[in-house]
Formats: sequence, structure tokens, C-alpha cells
Amino acid sequence: MLRISELKLPLDHTPEALADAVAGFLKAPADDVHGFTVFKRSYDARKGVMSLVYIIDVDVANEDKLFARFKGDRRVMPTPDTNYYYVGQAPAELKQRPVVVGFGPCGIFAALILAQMGFKPIVLERGKEVRQRTKDTWGLWRKSELNTESNVQYGEGGAGTFSDGKLYSQIKDPRHLGRKVLTEFVKAGAPEEILYLARPHIGTFRLVSMVENMRAEIIELGGEIRFEQRVDDLILDGDRVRGVKLADGGEVLSDHVVLALGHSARDTFQMLEKRGVYMEAKPFSVGVRIEHPQSLIDAARWGKYAGHPLLGAADYKLVHHASNGRAVYSFCMCPGGTVVAATSEEKRVVTNGMSQYSRNERNANSGFVVSISPEVDYPGGPLAGLDFQRELESKAYELGGGDYFAPAQLLGDFMAGKASTQLGEVEPSYKPGVTMTDLTRILPDFCVEAMREAIPHFARQIRGYDLHDAVLTGLETRTSSPLRITRGDDGQSLNVKGLFPAGEGAGYAGGILSAGVDGIKVAEAVAKAMLGR
Ligand code: FAD
Repeated sequence: MLRISELKLPLDHTPEALADAVAGFLKAPADDVHGFTVFKRSYDARKGVMSLVYIIDVDVANEDKLFARFKGDRRVMPTPDTNYYYVGQAPAELKQRPVVVGFGPCGIFAALILAQMGFKPIVLERGKEVRQRTKDTWGLWRKSELNTESNVQYGEGGAGTFSDGKLYSQIKDPRHLGRKVLTEFVKAGAPEEILYLARPHIGTFRLVSMVENMRAEIIELGGEIRFEQRVDDLILDGDRVRGVKLADGGEVLSDHVVLALGHSARDTFQMLEKRGVYMEAKPFSVGVRIEHPQSLIDAARWGKYAGHPLLGAADYKLVHHASNGRAVYSFCMCPGGTVVAATSEEKRVVTNGMSQYSRNERNANSGFVVSISPEVDYPGGPLAGLDFQRELESKAYELGGGDYFAPAQLLGDFMAGKASTQLGEVEPSYKPGVTMTDLTRILPDFCVEAMREAIPHFARQIRGYDLHDAVLTGLETRTSSPLRITRGDDGQSLNVKGLFPAGEGAGYAGGILSAGVDGIKVAEAVAKAMLGR
């Protein structure tokens, strides 16, 4: 197969036009082109003209001649092999079973790949199965009732289940493991388009049934998923893990334990520190969610093409390097979505964002966050970042007035240094509700300074971004893990053999796709260790 990149066509082109463009580009007779598939489709909106840009894999006659003709043209290359190859297969007589703690994207992929290789993993997940968990999560949003073991952070599907389901990442992926993740998602019910859209998303509802389908496959292959099983301790034998202890007093023995905990498992991080597992503090970011009318973002990004069905609701990505040395950036932007209450701890308020596949809610929301680092902002050991988060989240709860209401402020008032007392044209989507106030009372000064500096820069890229009535809701504190559970090249903890830290909580992923990819990597590391390689 031959791959063509940068093939540009007008937004409203016909399917035939694409076939003609392929044959035309190659200057090959139409009969020589036996078929082609779209590997990626993205947009180019430069110079006010919206085009679709394709990467196409073509099955064509006389490939060698074509490669010779296009020698030196970086738009033409052999199609890389993106198939996934297992690193091994469990022997039928193998008695040992690996344990996977956590059933978010990382734990799901670790368990799935292990199961596909015949290792029959046992998954221990503290939260509930996804449908029950959905009810509990709505309990917080509708009735201010938080279930500390079943919520936006904990339960089947992990943190990204109630999300926009964005499925792209900037990780280096020379082995095309992201492709394996997307292929498994399609097998589990995701739309095929996620395989070729440059910035795919699936929204919340589809994620729920996909997670159930992946659970079913793991079980069919001999794995087990045990819900409401919180791991509270490790069973150690010198520098080796021999299993885990559960909150209900039970034990599960295994010499191979994957920790796919997510960034909110603070009690588990504390237990790991007590047990002496090597960890180190790492940088993350804090700030607020910002909401604009989606129509404003569409008009700024798509211009006259706003509303075109192929484009959908527009997203954005913004960065500003502030003069106080901080990076200010948009985080986890959700077009046509809602701001969600994302705490897992009582009397704390944390924001995040989600949307449905249709992305047709009135507002666009995004994290509007500032980088922080352990050296400057929370010195004092691997768990200091947790304390920093907790303090901000408690302050947000108090400023919100209790009952999990979030503190909010109009952007214009934030810029002018005054408290907000009423809403303007943008109705905030956060549930159970917001209290209009002054967010600068709880945000660190360096954040406020950097955010105020960033807004005019952002408004130059997205016209209207500095809208007076845009709503800031806070606080956004869980942008990534505040620590890393460091592992070696063999995927194992630096000082506890048999313990495989993975995913976002261990500091090795940020987002659904990268957590899934890390799940595959850790499954491979476990398989190699179990096969004695
Ligand atoms: P998690 O998904 O956090 O899963 C960890 C699991 O471990 C949880 O289910 C937890 O219950 C379980 N666990 C923790 N401790 C224990 C224990 N002691 N015993 C047993 N089980 C335990 N990313 C994107 O790429 N796109 C998005 O659109 C997106 N939107 C998001 C929206 C929201 C509201 C949130 C909260 C996150 C969003 N993210 C998004 C981030 C994404 O969800 C995470 O990066 C991803 O889920 C990390 O995967 P993980 O498997 O490493 O951890």
C-alpha cells in the first residue's frame, strides 16, 4: 500500500472528487487504483478558506514505479504497518494470575490485552459498575449527594466516563498503540470515524456501553472484574509484592500487581507512601473552567462556515507564557458541553467538563489553568501536591456556600478586580449550582496575575474570548496527577518488584487515549515478567 499525505479538497467536495484527486495526484489511470481508505481527515482554515486535508492509503498497481517517480516527495511513502502484535501468549498450564487495580482506561486496556494474551487478569475496582455509578454521579449533580466511592472519579470506566470522550493525544507513539486503542473502542461500539478523524470524540453515553462491552470481552476470555473492592494495602515480602489487601478485609494474592489508580486515589497514594513505594512530586496545573456561548467560539473559529455539519461545534487550544514565568492554557476543552462537579471527597469542590456525542449544548467550556511546580509551589515530599489540591478544593467549597455549589465570577469582573453579584448573558451549566462571588479570594495570586495577562492574548486568537459575561467556575485542581510512582524500564516500581504503576495516577498518562496506550504497555511488561523474559 502507498500512503499520500496533505491531499487537500474543498469542504463540500463529493466522494467522487476524492477518488479523482487520488488518481490525479498519482497521475495513474483510474483502473490502476484498486481502492483506497482514509487514514486521517483534518481541517485547514488558513487564508479564510476551509479545506479538508486527507492522509490516504491507496491500493494501486505498479507501486514500485510510483515510489520511484515520487522519490524525495515527503507526501508519498509506503503505508506503515499499524497492526498490533502481542508480545507473548500465556501457557495453558500457567496458574499465576495478574491483578489490575482500577478499571479506568488504563486498567481496562491492561486487563483487555492481558486477557487477549491468555493471562486471565483479576480486576479490582473500588467503584460500582457503570450504570449504577451513573445514578450515583447524578446524585451529586441533582441532589448535592456525594457518594465518596462511586462518582465522577471512581467506578467502572474511570475518570473519563462522564466526559467529552476526546480521543487524541500528543504522545509519541512509534508502535501505533493508539491505533490499537481506537480499534478496540470501535469493536466495543464507538463510531468508525474515530479511526480517521484528526480530533475524534465519542461523548458520555457511548462510553458507557463501550465500557460494558469491553468488560464482557475480558470476562469471556477468562478474566474477572470485581466491583466495590477497594485496595487498602499491599502484601509485601521484602522488596516484592505478593498481593493486596481489600477494604472488606479480604486478600488477593498475586506476584504481579498493576496500579492503574487514576489521579484522585489520594487515600491509596497515602497508603503507598506509608509502605515505602518510591514516588516523587510532579508539576500539574490549577485554575477555573471558563464558559462562553458555543456560537461565539464557532463564529471565531469557523467564520462563514460556522454550523457546517462536517465541522460540528468548534474547539480551541490556547497557550500563553506569562511574564511571571507561568504557562496559562486551555485544558480539556468541551465544545457544546457542560461543566461538571468532579469531586470524590466530601466538602470539596472540583470542576471538569463533559459533553455528549452531539456536542449541542449552548455553552463551550474549557479549563483555564496555570502551571504549578513542586519546587516553587508545594515543596515537602511526594504527597505535598495532594495537600495543595485539598486546600484549594475546600476553599472552593466554602466560597461556593456549601451543598457542593461552586464559586463563580464573570470574566469582566475578574479582570476588573471586583466580585460578581449576578449573571449576565451566559448561563453557567455547573450543577448543582453556582454562587456568584470573587474567585481571586481563593486562587493563588500568581494564577490571577497570569490569567489576567493571558485573556487579551487569547482574545486575539478567538475574537470575543474576553466577553465580559463569560463565566468562570472554580476550582479546576485535578488537571493531572500531583505525583509520579516512578517505574523502571521493566515497567516495575523502582523499589517494589512485581508492582507495575501505570496510567494517569502514576504520572504516565494524561487523557483517555494515552491512559489506554499506557495500559497496553504495562500489560506487555507484566506478560514479559510472567513469561520470564
Ligand atoms: P482513571 O480513569 O482515573 O481510573 C482509575 C480507576 O481506579 C478508577 O475507576 C478508580 O475508582 C480506581 N481506583 C482508584 N483507587 C483504587 C483502589 N484503591 N482500589 C481499587 N480501585 C481503585 N480525557 C480525555 O482524553 N478526553 C476527555 O474528553 C476527558 N474528559 C474528562 C472529563 C472529566 C469529567 C474527567 C474527570 C476526566 C476527563 N479526562 C478526559 C481525563 C481522563 O478521564 C483521564 O485521563 C483517564 O481516565 C485516566 O485514566 P486512568 O485509567 O489512568 O485513571
